[in-house]
Amino acid sequence: MTAPRLEIDLEKIRHNAHTLVQRLKARGISVTGVSKASLGSPDIADALLRAGVSGLGDSRIENIEAMRRAGIAAPMTLIRSPMLSQTRRIVTFADVSFNTERDVIAALSRAAQQAGRTHGIVLMVELGDLREGIMPADLERTVCETLRFPNIVLKGIGSNLACRSGVVPDARNMSELSRLADSIDAATGSVMTVVSGGNSANLEWALGGGADIGRINNLRLGESILLGCEPLHRRPIEGLFTDAITLIAETIESKTKPSRPWGTIAQSAFGERAPTADRGPIAQSILALGRQDTDTDGLTAPPGTEILGASSDHLIVSTGGRHKPVGGEIAFQLTYGALVRAMTSPFVAKAFLKGG
Ligand SMILES: *Cc1c(COP(=O)(O)O)cnc(C)c1O
Repeated sequence: MTAPRLEIDLEKIRHNAHTLVQRLKARGISVTGVSKASLGSPDIADALLRAGVSGLGDSRIENIEAMRRAGIAAPMTLIRSPMLSQTRRIVTFADVSFNTERDVIAALSRAAQQAGRTHGIVLMVELGDLREGIMPADLERTVCETLRFPNIVLKGIGSNLACRSGVVPDARNMSELSRLADSIDAATGSVMTVVSGGNSANLEWALGGGADIGRINNLRLGESILLGCEPLHRRPIEGLFTDAITLIAETIESKTKPSRPWGTIAQSAFGERAPTADRGPIAQSILALGRQDTDTDGLTAPPGTEILGASSDHLIVSTGGRHKPVGGEIAFQLTYGALVRAMTSPFVAKAFLKGG
């Protein structure tokens, strides 16, 4: 089979999603399956939907369009604030979008009128992570403005934490979101039906036991489903597969080489410093995989193999005492960042395993 390639086990992804859907259902929380790391793959979307997610969320309208073209009929939410230049495409292909700007909602309203459709809005609230969100003091005014736009349906409010600044979702910020939903309902007479608390970083809060869930009735999960890890400490989640997706690379050179370079040493291609420790001769292999294909800093090698360095097209590893034959393959685990890069690289093939 061709390399490099991502091997994607759809049954493990379905299992991970199904497990989280069931655990959160017991707490009254629905799951939006976040597909943004899967480049609009209809196979992954299908695995998420079979697992019982209530809808799909993606940060790119291009991915949502790709899933629509592939015949995926589920509710789809654009989870990044829309670009003004894309409002027509957004009302055409997404049912709902996350918003923070009045001018954008006005443009979505005009586009929806022209298309003869209605478009759902979730207003995002800033709770401290300092990425997207309306400041809580300004929320009620924006709600009132949103309610007045034709062809716009206000679905509810949401928040996103732990992405830019690593702010942990906890009892304090989650109960603030619940309180905001209550006070907006009371002030406007409308009902915030969706209160979307956050992403995979919210799982500890939601499932840790004893948390008052309040009004939170939705989470948007990507990383925890695909990688089986929670993103706050990158610990595996019990009962989930952490190897649903692996990156396979092929060996193109295998030789015994000194561990220390020789000659006058300046900067390397990516500004890294050359190894200085002399560990004696080592079994060194080069794999046909580089920074063009993935974030090589986000790869974990199998036991006995150590990543020594990377350039655009080469990954250099030590294979311990044993030589890897040329043409042999090595499988790596990936971080979310490495996964997104590999998924979007035209050089990395995607192999879907359906057996389970
Ligand atoms: C990426 C993203 C998610 C999903 O985050 P995970 O940590 O992958 O679960 C949820 N909401 C928003 C707004 C996002 O951008």
